[in-house]
Amino acid sequence: MSTIEAKKGRIRLPRRGRSTELAEGALACRDCGAAVRRPATVEKLHSYGRVRAFPNGARIVEDAQTEIRMTRCDACSARLARAEAITDEHPKVTKPLGSRSYALALVDAALTVFDALGLKPARAATLCRTDNDLRQMLDTLPAAGGRAWWVAKFLPVIEAGMDPKSCAPTRWGHLSPELEQNLRDSYAALLRVRMDKPMVIYPPDGRACLICGLGGVTGLRSHAEEIWGVERQVVAATVGGRGRPDPIKGYLCPDCSAIADEVGALGPTVMERSIADFLGARRSDQRFVEIDGIRAWAVLPKGTPPNKTRWAHEPNLEELAKDILTA
Ligand SMILES: [Zn+2]
Ligand SMILES: [Zn+2]
Repeated sequence: MSTIEAKKGRIRLPRRGRSTELAEGALACRDCGAAVRRPATVEKLHSYGRVRAFPNGARIVEDAQTEIRMTRCDACSARLARAEAITDEHPKVTKPLGSRSYALALVDAALTVFDALGLKPARAATLCRTDNDLRQMLDTLPAAGGRAWWVAKFLPVIEAGMDPKSCAPTRWGHLSPELEQNLRDSYAALLRVRMDKPMVIYPPDGRACLICGLGGVTGLRSHAEEIWGVERQVVAATVGGRGRPDPIKGYLCPDCSAIADEVGALGPTVMERSIADFLGARRSDQRFVEIDGIRAWAVLPKGTPPNKTRWAHEPNLEELAKDILTA
């Protein structure tokens, strides 16, 4: 990305200001807070109390039922219409969420993040084309979007210092630095998830799984650090090697790692389970079956390359599978 593009793409939020008094007959938009002079619709909301803040930092909620009237501005109505279209275009994602109104609220809250951050509609559209796009949006955005709504300052209770007869100075002009940061963080989280494509991840020492010899594991970029787990040690004599009293250090692939965690120490049992798992030959009775003459990758001669598939260094694996199942 060039510097100019980077500057263009930078997200600018409207300048904040104090909320202002509504003109006669005007209502605040429930979402962006902007004043709507001639509201086409009126939404009546009920607040159950009012927060009172004291100079010493204490806060109490006073019981006070208040009816608050709000509306939706044209821009927020257009966004809601887009949310409705998206909700209906992706039933595979939205149906399992339960009621349509709940799904719609989530989609609209997600789109609110784009709206409040001032994303160009074309850019926002590229982020919600497929079912998977929408899933990623719903995983990362709705909480921050919902918190940014003007109405959130009045429901279920009226925040300290907020007047139900006021509005934001501009669309989204009521956002506190904290709410702004929330929006930016959730958008950043979405972009991270979208970049998260599966890739081959190699062990930290660049070698291979100490047991099965697998050299690379396919996983998500975001899991790269934990996929090979902690450094392990294995004593050569316990995994088919000779001599070398010093333990060999290295890493385990996720499959061998799971087996090792279950079994305990790295030794013949881990090797046998690993082979059995790889061949799909694990006995249903889970009886321990001894397989002679196999070697873990860790004890192969120095310079042996990593395996492309687990246990590729051991010939006659099919025979082994039969032995395991019939033993
Ligand atoms: Zn609005
Ligand atoms: Zn392994």
